Amino acid sequence: MNYQKELDKLIEQLQKEGKTPRLLLHSCCAPCSSYVLEYLSNFFEITVFYYNPNIFPETEYTKRILEQQMLIDDMKVKHPIAFLAGQYDRERFFDIAAGLEHLEEGGERCFKCYELRLAEAAQVAKKGNFDYFTTTLSISPMKNADKLNEIGNELAAKYGVLYLQSDFKKKNGYKRSIELSNEYGLYRQDYCGCEYSFRDRQKEKENKK
Ligand code: SF4
Repeated sequence: MNYQKELDKLIEQLQKEGKTPRLLLHSCCAPCSSYVLEYLSNFFEITVFYYNPNIFPETEYTKRILEQQMLIDDMKVKHPIAFLAGQYDRERFFDIAAGLEHLEEGGERCFKCYELRLAEAAQVAKKGNFDYFTTTLSISPMKNADKLNEIGNELAAKYGVLYLQSDFKKKNGYKRSIELSNEYGLYRQDYCGCEYSFRDRQKEKENKK
């Protein structure tokens, strides 16, 4: 499925109908959200939902959330962007990662990590009467867009709120996120987020040395 084409069609339809739906956008970090916000804020009334109990250590979590808020404050966009922070409930992440700690990024642990964060977003979207929910995660070349959309659609059916299908790396989304990160002077981390991805990145650096 070409998720970007599907999104293009949906946006075209919304434009024709003169609608600006409310979107709860789960964000993993400011750099990944930059392009998604620049793009989707033309068509949606967005609330950024920062729910990332996977992030290690806590100082990194604080750094990323502050960076996210700063970006929202700085961005010049068509429709104003609101911000909502979830809980930093790390135990929930450790529960889903149990037994999968040894895996590299991109495997089963990551699929469970997507699901943890998207399930929280779906429930918050339902409670807050949002029209759609989605995530910035598909912008990363390291993330599996098929899996993200599959999980998003399942959660949409489970919680009764629409999932905005997407693959934000298309249309040069990832490239644009790097340009915007430079433009806004954003901190760009060099590991995905959890302590296992941190461990693997450290190993890679040592091997290079
Ligand atoms: S590597 Fe990233 S997506 Fe995978 S479990 Fe860790 S934080 Fe989650």
